[in-house]
Amino acid sequence: MIYVPPPPAHAIRKSEKREKLLGVEELSTELTPEEMEEFNAAPGRQRRLKVWRAMLERVFKPGTAEMFRMLKREAWKVRKKVLRWVMDHADVPEEPERSVRGTSIDPTALQALLLRLQEEWAAQVQKGAGPIYLRAADQALNVLSHQIGGFTSMSVGHPEVVKAIAARTVEIKTPIEGTVKMLRETLAKGVAEGKTTQEMARLVRDRFGMVERASKMIARTEIAGAANKVRHVGMEVEGIAGREWITSGDLRVRRTHAAMDGVVALVDEKYPIPKKVKGLWKGPRLKHPDDPHGHASQVIACRCVEGPVLDLNA
Ligand SMILES: [Zn+2]
Repeated sequence: MIYVPPPPAHAIRKSEKREKLLGVEELSTELTPEEMEEFNAAPGRQRRLKVWRAMLERVFKPGTAEMFRMLKREAWKVRKKVLRWVMDHADVPEEPERSVRGTSIDPTALQALLLRLQEEWAAQVQKGAGPIYLRAADQALNVLSHQIGGFTSMSVGHPEVVKAIAARTVEIKTPIEGTVKMLRETLAKGVAEGKTTQEMARLVRDRFGMVERASKMIARTEIAGAANKVRHVGMEVEGIAGREWITSGDLRVRRTHAAMDGVVALVDEKYPIPKKVKGLWKGPRLKHPDDPHGHASQVIACRCVEGPVLDLNA
Protein backbone atom coordinates (compact mmCIF):
# COMPACT_ATOMS: atom_id res chain seq x y z
CA MET A 1 0.00 0.00 0.00
CA ILE A 2 1.04 3.61 -0.37
CA TYR A 3 1.31 5.32 2.93
CA VAL A 4 1.11 9.08 2.91
CA PRO A 5 1.85 10.54 6.33
CA PRO A 6 -1.00 12.67 7.63
CA PRO A 7 -0.50 16.43 7.44
CA PRO A 8 0.53 18.25 10.63
CA ALA A 9 -2.27 19.00 13.12
CA HIS A 10 -2.41 22.70 12.34
CA ALA A 11 -2.90 21.97 8.65
CA ILE A 12 -5.79 19.66 9.45
CA ARG A 13 -7.46 22.24 11.70
CA LYS A 14 -7.07 24.88 9.04
CA SER A 15 -8.65 22.71 6.40
CA GLU A 16 -11.46 21.32 8.57
CA LYS A 17 -13.92 24.07 7.86
CA ARG A 18 -13.25 23.88 4.15
CA GLU A 19 -13.40 20.13 4.19
CA LYS A 20 -16.87 20.23 5.73
CA LEU A 21 -17.93 22.50 2.95
CA LEU A 22 -16.38 20.69 0.04
CA GLY A 23 -15.14 17.30 1.21
CA VAL A 24 -11.93 18.19 -0.53
CA GLU A 25 -9.34 15.61 -1.37
CA GLU A 26 -5.74 16.72 -1.16
CA LEU A 27 -6.48 19.04 1.75
CA SER A 28 -7.87 16.73 4.33
CA THR A 29 -7.16 13.53 6.14
CA GLU A 30 -10.30 11.48 5.98
CA LEU A 31 -9.40 7.84 6.52
CA THR A 32 -7.27 6.54 9.36
CA PRO A 33 -4.08 4.60 8.48
CA GLU A 34 -5.76 1.42 9.81
CA GLU A 35 -8.81 1.92 7.61
CA MET A 36 -6.52 2.60 4.68
CA GLU A 37 -4.53 -0.58 5.20
CA GLU A 38 -7.72 -2.62 5.23
CA PHE A 39 -8.91 -0.72 2.16
CA ASN A 40 -5.79 -1.49 0.16
CA ALA A 41 -6.03 -5.21 1.00
CA ALA A 42 -9.45 -5.48 -0.72
CA PRO A 43 -9.79 -7.81 -3.76
CA GLY A 44 -8.68 -6.20 -7.01
CA ARG A 45 -7.31 -3.20 -5.18
CA GLN A 46 -3.70 -3.69 -6.32
CA ARG A 47 -4.82 -3.94 -9.94
CA ARG A 48 -6.82 -0.73 -9.58
CA LEU A 49 -3.95 0.99 -7.84
CA LYS A 50 -1.73 0.32 -10.88
CA VAL A 51 -4.21 2.17 -13.08
CA TRP A 52 -4.42 5.05 -10.66
CA ARG A 53 -0.63 5.33 -10.43
CA ALA A 54 -0.27 5.36 -14.19
CA MET A 55 -2.76 8.23 -14.35
CA LEU A 56 -1.00 10.04 -11.52
CA GLU A 57 2.45 9.83 -13.08
CA ARG A 58 1.55 10.32 -16.72
CA VAL A 59 -1.39 12.70 -16.54
CA PHE A 60 -2.17 14.29 -13.18
CA LYS A 61 1.34 15.29 -12.11
CA PRO A 62 2.70 16.72 -15.37
CA GLY A 63 -0.66 18.19 -16.49
CA THR A 64 -1.42 19.90 -13.18
CA ALA A 65 2.10 21.31 -12.94
CA GLU A 66 1.91 22.68 -16.47
CA MET A 67 -1.57 24.16 -15.95
CA PHE A 68 -0.56 25.71 -12.62
CA ARG A 69 2.57 27.30 -14.12
CA MET A 70 0.50 28.85 -16.90
CA LEU A 71 -2.21 30.15 -14.54
CA LYS A 72 0.45 31.58 -12.22
CA ARG A 73 2.32 33.25 -15.05
CA GLU A 74 -0.83 34.91 -16.40
CA ALA A 75 -1.93 36.03 -12.93
CA TRP A 76 1.46 37.64 -12.32
CA LYS A 77 1.24 39.59 -15.53
CA VAL A 78 -2.07 41.06 -14.37
CA ARG A 79 -0.73 41.65 -10.85
CA LYS A 80 2.16 43.63 -12.28
CA LYS A 81 -0.14 45.82 -14.36
CA VAL A 82 -2.55 46.51 -11.48
CA LEU A 83 0.32 47.31 -9.09
CA ARG A 84 2.00 49.64 -11.56
CA TRP A 85 -1.30 51.46 -12.14
CA VAL A 86 -2.02 51.78 -8.41
CA MET A 87 1.49 53.06 -7.66
CA ASP A 88 1.08 55.72 -10.35
CA HIS A 89 -1.41 57.45 -8.06
CA ALA A 90 -0.15 59.56 -5.23
CA ASP A 91 -1.90 59.89 -1.90
CA VAL A 92 -4.34 62.72 -1.36
CA PRO A 93 -2.21 65.71 -0.30
CA GLU A 94 -2.01 66.13 3.46
CA GLU A 95 -4.30 68.84 4.73
CA PRO A 96 -4.10 68.59 8.49
CA GLU A 97 -6.98 70.98 9.15
CA ARG A 98 -9.33 68.74 7.10
CA SER A 99 -7.61 65.49 8.21
CA VAL A 100 -7.99 64.08 4.70
CA ARG A 101 -6.51 60.63 4.18
CA GLY A 102 -6.47 58.27 1.22
CA THR A 103 -5.29 57.66 -2.30
CA SER A 104 -5.97 59.78 -5.37
CA ILE A 105 -7.11 56.66 -7.27
CA ASP A 106 -10.38 57.28 -9.07
CA PRO A 107 -12.62 54.28 -8.25
CA THR A 108 -14.37 54.41 -11.63
CA ALA A 109 -11.07 54.34 -13.50
CA LEU A 110 -9.91 51.45 -11.31
CA GLN A 111 -13.05 49.44 -12.14
CA ALA A 112 -12.57 50.16 -15.85
CA LEU A 113 -8.96 49.00 -15.67
CA LEU A 114 -9.90 45.74 -13.93
CA LEU A 115 -12.64 44.99 -16.45
CA ARG A 116 -10.26 45.60 -19.33
CA LEU A 117 -7.65 43.35 -17.72
CA GLN A 118 -10.26 40.64 -17.18
CA GLU A 119 -10.75 40.38 -20.94
CA GLU A 120 -7.02 40.10 -21.64
CA TRP A 121 -6.47 37.72 -18.75
CA ALA A 122 -9.28 35.34 -19.77
CA ALA A 123 -8.13 35.36 -23.40
CA GLN A 124 -4.52 34.57 -22.43
CA VAL A 125 -5.55 31.76 -20.08
CA GLN A 126 -7.81 30.24 -22.70
CA LYS A 127 -5.01 30.38 -25.25
CA GLY A 128 -2.59 28.77 -22.81
CA ALA A 129 -5.00 26.11 -21.54
CA GLY A 130 -5.97 24.60 -24.91
CA PRO A 131 -2.69 22.78 -25.65
CA ILE A 132 -2.34 21.71 -21.99
CA TYR A 133 -5.77 20.05 -22.04
CA LEU A 134 -4.85 18.40 -25.33
CA ARG A 135 -1.62 16.92 -23.97
CA ALA A 136 -3.41 15.68 -20.83
CA ALA A 137 -6.16 14.14 -22.99
CA ASP A 138 -3.60 12.46 -25.22
CA GLN A 139 -1.76 10.95 -22.25
CA ALA A 140 -5.00 9.89 -20.53
CA LEU A 141 -6.08 8.09 -23.69
CA ASN A 142 -2.66 6.46 -24.04
CA VAL A 143 -3.03 4.97 -20.58
CA LEU A 144 -6.52 3.71 -21.47
CA SER A 145 -5.40 2.29 -24.82
CA HIS A 146 -2.65 0.37 -23.05
CA GLN A 147 -5.16 -0.99 -20.54
CA ILE A 148 -7.56 -2.35 -23.14
CA GLY A 149 -4.93 -3.61 -25.60
CA GLY A 150 -5.18 -0.82 -28.16
CA PHE A 151 -7.95 1.29 -29.64
CA THR A 152 -9.93 0.32 -32.70
CA SER A 153 -11.48 3.71 -33.44
CA MET A 154 -10.79 6.08 -30.53
CA SER A 155 -8.24 8.87 -30.84
CA VAL A 156 -7.49 12.27 -29.38
CA GLY A 157 -8.98 13.77 -32.55
CA HIS A 158 -12.39 12.19 -31.87
CA PRO A 159 -15.15 14.86 -32.15
CA GLU A 160 -16.31 14.20 -28.57
CA VAL A 161 -12.78 14.84 -27.27
CA VAL A 162 -12.47 18.01 -29.33
CA LYS A 163 -15.86 19.13 -28.01
CA ALA A 164 -14.95 18.35 -24.39
CA ILE A 165 -11.66 20.28 -24.62
CA ALA A 166 -13.36 23.22 -26.32
CA ALA A 167 -16.00 23.34 -23.57
CA ARG A 168 -13.36 23.31 -20.82
CA THR A 169 -11.35 25.97 -22.63
CA VAL A 170 -14.40 28.24 -22.68
CA GLU A 171 -15.28 27.51 -19.06
CA ILE A 172 -11.84 28.23 -17.63
CA LYS A 173 -12.65 31.94 -17.91
CA THR A 174 -15.24 31.53 -15.13
CA PRO A 175 -12.78 31.46 -12.20
CA ILE A 176 -11.02 34.48 -13.72
CA GLU A 177 -14.27 36.42 -13.83
CA GLY A 178 -14.83 35.46 -10.20
CA THR A 179 -11.33 36.60 -9.27
CA VAL A 180 -11.75 39.96 -10.99
CA LYS A 181 -15.11 40.45 -9.27
CA MET A 182 -13.42 39.81 -5.92
CA LEU A 183 -10.63 42.27 -6.83
CA ARG A 184 -13.08 44.94 -7.95
CA GLU A 185 -15.07 44.70 -4.74
CA THR A 186 -12.04 44.59 -2.44
CA LEU A 187 -10.26 47.49 -4.11
CA ALA A 188 -13.39 49.66 -4.35
CA LYS A 189 -13.89 49.10 -0.62
CA GLY A 190 -10.24 50.02 -0.03
CA VAL A 191 -10.64 53.36 -1.81
CA ALA A 192 -13.91 54.06 0.01
CA GLU A 193 -12.26 53.33 3.35
CA GLY A 194 -9.62 55.96 2.63
CA LYS A 195 -6.68 53.59 2.20
CA THR A 196 -3.41 55.14 1.05
CA THR A 197 -1.70 54.16 -2.20
CA GLN A 198 0.75 51.96 -0.28
CA GLU A 199 -2.10 50.24 1.53
CA MET A 200 -3.88 49.70 -1.76
CA ALA A 201 -0.74 48.11 -3.21
CA ARG A 202 -0.52 45.83 -0.20
CA LEU A 203 -4.13 44.82 -0.76
CA VAL A 204 -3.34 43.94 -4.39
CA ARG A 205 -0.33 41.81 -3.38
CA ASP A 206 -2.33 40.05 -0.70
CA ARG A 207 -5.23 39.24 -3.03
CA PHE A 208 -2.92 37.91 -5.74
CA GLY A 209 -1.43 35.59 -3.13
CA MET A 210 -4.92 34.15 -2.76
CA VAL A 211 -5.24 33.91 -6.53
CA GLU A 212 -2.06 31.83 -6.67
CA ARG A 213 -3.31 29.40 -4.04
CA ALA A 214 -6.64 29.05 -5.83
CA SER A 215 -4.81 28.38 -9.11
CA LYS A 216 -3.41 25.13 -7.71
CA MET A 217 -6.88 23.85 -7.01
CA ILE A 218 -8.13 24.99 -10.41
CA ALA A 219 -5.24 23.27 -12.19
CA ARG A 220 -5.91 20.00 -10.40
CA THR A 221 -9.64 20.03 -11.03
CA GLU A 222 -9.20 21.02 -14.67
CA ILE A 223 -6.67 18.32 -15.54
CA ALA A 224 -8.49 15.57 -13.67
CA GLY A 225 -11.77 16.70 -15.21
CA ALA A 226 -10.47 16.72 -18.77
CA ALA A 227 -8.62 13.41 -18.36
CA ASN A 228 -11.58 11.61 -16.84
CA LYS A 229 -13.96 12.94 -19.42
CA VAL A 230 -11.92 11.82 -22.42
CA ARG A 231 -11.32 8.39 -20.90
CA HIS A 232 -15.05 8.08 -20.35
CA VAL A 233 -15.66 8.95 -24.00
CA GLY A 234 -12.92 6.50 -25.01
CA MET A 235 -14.59 3.66 -23.14
CA GLU A 236 -17.93 4.46 -24.74
CA VAL A 237 -16.47 4.64 -28.24
CA GLU A 238 -14.56 1.40 -27.78
CA GLY A 239 -17.71 -0.35 -26.49
CA ILE A 240 -16.31 -1.29 -23.10
CA ALA A 241 -18.92 -3.28 -21.14
CA GLY A 242 -18.42 -1.60 -17.78
CA ARG A 243 -16.40 1.00 -15.93
CA GLU A 244 -15.10 0.91 -12.39
CA TRP A 245 -14.35 3.71 -9.93
CA ILE A 246 -10.74 3.89 -8.75
CA THR A 247 -9.45 6.07 -5.92
CA SER A 248 -5.96 7.03 -4.96
CA GLY A 249 -5.95 4.82 -1.88
CA ASP A 250 -4.07 7.32 0.23
CA LEU A 251 -5.18 9.16 3.34
CA ARG A 252 -6.44 12.19 1.49
CA VAL A 253 -9.23 10.50 -0.39
CA ARG A 254 -12.84 11.44 0.35
CA ARG A 255 -14.58 8.85 2.49
CA THR A 256 -17.44 8.69 0.01
CA HIS A 257 -15.01 8.00 -2.85
CA ALA A 258 -13.03 5.40 -0.90
CA ALA A 259 -16.34 3.57 -0.44
CA MET A 260 -16.84 3.74 -4.22
CA ASP A 261 -13.55 2.06 -5.09
CA GLY A 262 -14.18 -0.95 -7.34
CA VAL A 263 -17.87 -0.12 -7.81
CA VAL A 264 -18.81 -1.02 -11.38
CA ALA A 265 -21.18 0.99 -13.58
CA LEU A 266 -22.52 -0.38 -16.83
CA VAL A 267 -22.58 1.61 -20.07
CA ASP A 268 -24.66 4.78 -19.58
CA GLU A 269 -25.07 4.12 -15.87
CA LYS A 270 -24.11 6.67 -13.26
CA TYR A 271 -22.22 5.83 -10.08
CA PRO A 272 -24.14 5.89 -6.82
CA ILE A 273 -22.19 8.06 -4.41
CA PRO A 274 -22.66 6.88 -0.85
CA LYS A 275 -23.22 9.59 1.71
CA LYS A 276 -20.73 9.23 4.54
CA VAL A 277 -20.50 5.54 3.56
CA LYS A 278 -23.89 4.64 5.05
CA GLY A 279 -27.06 5.77 3.27
CA LEU A 280 -27.11 7.09 -0.25
CA TRP A 281 -25.77 10.39 -1.47
CA LYS A 282 -28.65 12.77 -2.04
CA GLY A 283 -26.99 14.99 -4.64
CA PRO A 284 -26.71 14.27 -8.36
CA ARG A 285 -25.04 11.00 -9.23
CA LEU A 286 -21.76 11.12 -11.12
CA LYS A 287 -21.28 9.86 -14.65
CA HIS A 288 -17.53 9.64 -14.01
CA PRO A 289 -15.05 11.08 -11.50
CA ASP A 290 -14.95 14.89 -11.81
CA ASP A 291 -18.29 14.95 -13.65
CA PRO A 292 -18.86 18.69 -14.20
CA HIS A 293 -22.58 18.17 -13.50
CA GLY A 294 -21.85 16.65 -10.09
CA HIS A 295 -22.09 18.40 -6.74
CA ALA A 296 -19.02 20.50 -5.87
CA SER A 297 -18.53 18.48 -2.66
CA GLN A 298 -17.92 15.38 -4.79
CA VAL A 299 -15.94 16.95 -7.60
CA ILE A 300 -13.50 19.63 -6.48
CA ALA A 301 -9.89 18.40 -6.34
CA CYS A 302 -11.05 14.79 -6.80
CA ARG A 303 -8.19 12.58 -7.93
CA CYS A 304 -10.21 9.47 -8.67
CA VAL A 305 -10.19 7.85 -12.09
CA GLU A 306 -12.34 5.44 -14.02
CA GLY A 307 -11.06 2.11 -15.30
CA PRO A 308 -12.40 -0.23 -17.98
CA VAL A 309 -14.05 -3.49 -16.98
CA LEU A 310 -13.72 -5.76 -19.98
CA ASP A 311 -15.37 -8.85 -18.54
CA LEU A 312 -18.30 -8.23 -16.22
CA ASN A 313 -18.29 -11.83 -15.02
CA ALA A 314 -14.65 -11.87 -14.02
ZN1 LIG B 1 -12.35 11.27 -5.59
